[in-house]
Amino acid sequence: MRKILEIIVHCTATFADQRVTVADIARWHKQRGWKTIGYHYVVDQDGNVFPGRPLEQAGAHCLDHNKNSIGVVYCGGLNAEGKPADTRTDAQKAALLGLLTDLKQRFPEAVIHGHRDFAKKACPCFDATSEYAAL
Ligand SMILES: [Zn+2]
Repeated sequence: MRKILEIIVHCTATFADQRVTVADIARWHKQRGWKTIGYHYVVDQDGNVFPGRPLEQAGAHCLDHNKNSIGVVYCGGLNAEGKPADTRTDAQKAALLGLLTDLKQRFPEAVIHGHRDFAKKACPCFDATSEYAAL
């Protein structure tokens, strides 16, 4: 297993009510020239957690931070006007909390961040670092 030092939270930057599957994201990422989906987990609006790229493989989700991180994405992140917004449903919040709690137990050294901590982006449209600081 790779050494995991960071868990980085993302949004898909799609509309709040837009259904996005692992296959959709894999297709978008292949169009960018990546071998498959760049994230390791996808959390949909109903709180389902889907596996993406295998954890053993470095992801493609955060420039200069992929080698030793896990990428987690929730579906959403854009409001009806197409502006960045925290669109997480209650089910998504619960599922994210459960997934991140589990990952922190498996990789205690890892620090949880939002993508925006490392890039000039709104992603994931909330302060993940503060929200999950106590995990
Ligand atoms: Zn991101």
